[in-house]
Amino acid sequence: MENFTFDKIEYVRPDVDKMEEICKEYTAKLRAAKSYEEVKQIILDYDKSGEEMETMFTVAHIRNTLNTTDKFYEDEMAFLHQRLPVAQATFTEYAKALAESPFAKEIDEDFGPELLMKVRRELDSFKPELIPYLQEQAMLTTEYQKLMATANIEFDGKVLNLYGIQSYFGNPDREVRKAAFAKYSEFYASNEEKMEEIFDKLVKCRTAMGKALGYETFTPLGYINQGRSDYGQKEVAAFREQVKNDLVPLCEELYKAQAKRIGVDKIMAYDEKFIFPDGNAEPIGDAKFLVEQARKMYHELSPETGEFIDFMIDHNLMDLENKPGKASTGYMTSLKKYKAPFVFSCFNHTIFDMQVLSHELGHAFAGYCAMRHQPVSDYFHESTDIAEIHSMSMEQFCYPYAEYMFGDMADKYRFAHLQEALTFVPFGVAVDEFQHIIYENPDLTPKERTYEWHKLEEKYMPWRTYSDDEFMDRGGYWYHKLHIFLYPFYYINYTLTTMGAMEFKKRYAEDKEQAWKDYLNLCNAGGSKSYLGLLKVANLHVPFEDGCVKESISYAKEILLKAIEEEQK
Ligand code: ZN
Repeated sequence: MENFTFDKIEYVRPDVDKMEEICKEYTAKLRAAKSYEEVKQIILDYDKSGEEMETMFTVAHIRNTLNTTDKFYEDEMAFLHQRLPVAQATFTEYAKALAESPFAKEIDEDFGPELLMKVRRELDSFKPELIPYLQEQAMLTTEYQKLMATANIEFDGKVLNLYGIQSYFGNPDREVRKAAFAKYSEFYASNEEKMEEIFDKLVKCRTAMGKALGYETFTPLGYINQGRSDYGQKEVAAFREQVKNDLVPLCEELYKAQAKRIGVDKIMAYDEKFIFPDGNAEPIGDAKFLVEQARKMYHELSPETGEFIDFMIDHNLMDLENKPGKASTGYMTSLKKYKAPFVFSCFNHTIFDMQVLSHELGHAFAGYCAMRHQPVSDYFHESTDIAEIHSMSMEQFCYPYAEYMFGDMADKYRFAHLQEALTFVPFGVAVDEFQHIIYENPDLTPKERTYEWHKLEEKYMPWRTYSDDEFMDRGGYWYHKLHIFLYPFYYINYTLTTMGAMEFKKRYAEDKEQAWKDYLNLCNAGGSKSYLGLLKVANLHVPFEDGCVKESISYAKEILLKAIEEEQK
């Protein structure tokens, strides 16, 4: 096992029947257990028994996204999407037995209260009646992904996918940017009917799931699915309000300065990614070069990240080059049996590539740490409102090494990246508010939904201007956001965690050693505590609390405004 590489892992279809049998055995044992020692052993053994199946599921998923035209893994995924929800009822029986264990107090003391909390959340979010809906949801989201993966956009004498076309958004020639954006928009506009149909079914399907669990709408279930236990809709709304008041005005200022810098009257949608008149920073080498630079960077950053990057490269745990047929997405996942993270992306030779090497590898590093420090796989992953702190803070910690990837364009990278980190937040909260509106009002027509997005752009992104683009003007931009289709209510996490990352950035500048220690503690803790509990481990502020947004972004704001002041001298 020590010498494994991802490409050599043999895929065997998970034996779900057998897994169900094993699960039933452990459920009976758990019910009959006479001492805490017995219970503890059952928890650990049962956890171990699921490793093989989960690992194979992950292998199938990775290979399916690596090549969406490979029929074999497509069929495997279709099979698993049908079969696993059916097995859920059996797995739930085990969870029930655990939740009802008379040794709950001992479990809490030994593993921490989060373990049973997770189990209870799982029970709250599932009933056998949901099975057909879960199957439908999996099919619909696969359909959306397939539709996106089939994008063959003819541009610049090439056939490009959605990642490829976006690499032109930073082109120095304004006409090229404009034309590329028009092509991008055209792809979504031409698929609007299909996307409307998929999304409408998703909204109805999710609403039905919420109702089946006794909720008025899907929203509370969405929150449970996101693993939230110590904050709700009210807190999130308060955070969005802070963003509107304390961050939106800064973003407007940044775009005004950008217009001046690139010599245009007004920043149009297709100008937003073009930050410098002589072009944005570009990586100074190909994928292979960048991976080698990443190895150097992580070795210099800390001994822990050095060990980690060697592991990733030696076991072939990254697939980063853009290839035909590859799903246009990026993610990190884990092969539990191997205690190995896997990182998937499509490089496009822009600053995005560095983003992958710092962001996705930040996730991978956290997974690598948690898999080595936590006793049960339930604690290997944290909810995403924490997970994105790992990845976004890593992006910030990597700033001093930008020269390795960008040479003398490193300053441009840092400025652009930091600006993007902040200007992203208003968009992110708009995506969140959009979903609240959609699921509160499931009977809106598809066109009405899209108009809601248009209104949110006016509220949170007042700078956003499209030119002669009927589809985008009436709100079509939201269709590109995969998360809205695949991961409802996920998106706010990126904005909450931006606050954590900005705070870490500030503290890393003030006291590198202590900040790194806190970061490492956070990674090692995995998902062993609740949201507020983990923020405490990392010594971070709570984003919902009044003034937090203002305070967290203060250092980044200072850096950006100073840079703007310098250039306007
Ligand atoms: Zn992430």
